Amino acid sequence: MNAKIALVEDEPDIRKMLRSFLEGKGCTVSEAADGHAAEKLLAEETFDLILMDLMLPGISGEQLIASLRRDSDTPVIVISAKSMLETRLAVLRLGADDYILKPFDLNEVLVRMEVVLRRAGREKLPEMLRVGSLTLYPAENRVCWADAPLSLTAKEFQLLLLFMEYPQKVYSKANLYESVWNEEYFCEDNTVSVHVSNLRAKLKKASGRDLIETVWGIGYRMKGDA
Ligand code: CA
Repeated sequence: MNAKIALVEDEPDIRKMLRSFLEGKGCTVSEAADGHAAEKLLAEETFDLILMDLMLPGISGEQLIASLRRDSDTPVIVISAKSMLETRLAVLRLGADDYILKPFDLNEVLVRMEVVLRRAGREKLPEMLRVGSLTLYPAENRVCWADAPLSLTAKEFQLLLLFMEYPQKVYSKANLYESVWNEEYFCEDNTVSVHVSNLRAKLKKASGRDLIETVWGIGYRMKGDA
């Protein structure tokens, strides 16, 4: 992921962890350790995406988002320990694009960043994705195994697109649900399992093999050797 990120966080350990993770994924990262430093950084430079803590010395994350939204639509993902639903809704209403609760999973941060960046149009989808003999054309809603077209529903197509963008990556049900259905995943239900299992059956019928595997207790991923 080639994105320029502002990281607003007063906890040095969290900054360090996020920075090294994001740099490992190809991002450039600028840090601000308090509200005033963040205000300055955001005024001086533009970013593709801002990761924003809420409880900060100086100026709160809420205030920063409110003032940013007066003249900027740079995507903001809040990463906060504030777990009250009202707080989360208030921050989304202020103009944040997503909300991740601490403690968080780095993989989840990455997936949500991808979704938000894609929505903002800053990360263009490739014309074609290929994993082994499976080829997907994002703009044309078309998938082929070898040269034979596959008939997928819209949800199955979007799930497969996520799997093929990052084969090897394990997606949790919450990741998949929130990316494809675009709604918050509140409780365990079988919507995701049903759609993944239909997709898997269609892929298996075309290829003669299981192309999506279940990682027990975590989620699903594409088999790299598809
Ligand atoms: Ca904090």
